[in-house]
Amino acid sequence: MLRKFILASLISVLLVACNPQNPYQERQQQQQFYVFGTLVAVTLWDVPKQTADQAFTDIMHSLQALHKKWHAWDKSSQVVALNQAIAQGQAYTIEDESLLDLLTQAQTLAAKSDYLFEPAIGKLIALWGFHQDEPHLSEPPALEAIEKLLAEKPSIADLTIEGNVVTSSNPAVQLDFGAYAKGYAVDMMVEKLKKLDIENAIVNAGGNLKVLGKAGERPWMIGVRHPFPTEEKSVLAAVAVEGELSVVTSGDYERYFEFDGKHYSHVIDPRTGQPTTQIRSVTVVDESATFADAAATALMVAGIENWYAMAKKMGVRYVLIVDQAGTVHLNPAMIDLAQFQKRDLPKSVISEPLI
Ligand code: ADP
Ligand code: MG
Repeated sequence: MLRKFILASLISVLLVACNPQNPYQERQQQQQFYVFGTLVAVTLWDVPKQTADQAFTDIMHSLQALHKKWHAWDKSSQVVALNQAIAQGQAYTIEDESLLDLLTQAQTLAAKSDYLFEPAIGKLIALWGFHQDEPHLSEPPALEAIEKLLAEKPSIADLTIEGNVVTSSNPAVQLDFGAYAKGYAVDMMVEKLKKLDIENAIVNAGGNLKVLGKAGERPWMIGVRHPFPTEEKSVLAAVAVEGELSVVTSGDYERYFEFDGKHYSHVIDPRTGQPTTQIRSVTVVDESATFADAAATALMVAGIENWYAMAKKMGVRYVLIVDQAGTVHLNPAMIDLAQFQKRDLPKSVISEPLI
């Protein structure tokens, strides 16, 4: 199916490219840049070249600026300044509207997830070595160090936001928006495209993406990465989406380290202080990429026994999970969106409906 789709889009691009009357030159235009600590790809369909160039430049610059502001450990970041104020028991005035909204929404989403999505565990994430561009630990941190941070019980619920002034009742809170800033940024970038009257597009920030409209007459087909990719098999399923929908994947293979044959992922269970172990990847489809990103991380923490209850509680409507054995867990509504290669169907478990 995917191959057919790629062929069809290539053909349509060729047809249009051969037509000298066409003001769009090529129907599909794409630009990729490395920003936000990840590869960002913007794909536009049926957009005049000048508008497309403006969109690419706008998005690249905006993402660079957001990354600087929201970074969890870069010295010039506003989040780092906010974290310093919290550690010193001082109030902090947030001048930037997007950061204030990022924080406010994070508080709501964390509560919805029973604090499995918990952006206040920055100290734990740093302890595990994930506050570096490349994870650098060669072995897990000492259990006592983990216990000590757990005993401080940092939670985003400890923050009080009045107007644009933030205070914390707990100096151990250290914010890290890594689990949902990419989703939030993708939502923001799609709003930018809409302001430029762009109706058909994809903004993809390292597997956290949102589509607008369609790819010509067809829905956009989004590949979900195979959990154990090989050269022949890099895509597990294609998800057909159109209109305004996000497809967000959290995986344990993005940032991790290995010790003694064990895989340590960058998603930490705030209850135990340990990296998650059961789930290889979670894909959530939702209108909001912000929600989908926070939910995907929460489901990763919830694990195989509890993902369904957590998805139901959070209001997730479409989910596809791959566990460590490669078994796929999905809800019935997701079956209508996802297309698997027929000759290579994975073992799958279908849950009760979510809504
Ligand atoms: P990806 O970056 O692959 O999309 P996630 O969205 O799952 O992955 O985000 C993982 C990042 O979120 C980690 O690198 C860390 O910064 C942060 N994080 C880890 N565990 C949690 C958690 N339980 N709640 C909130 N943030 C977390
Ligand atoms: Mg996430």
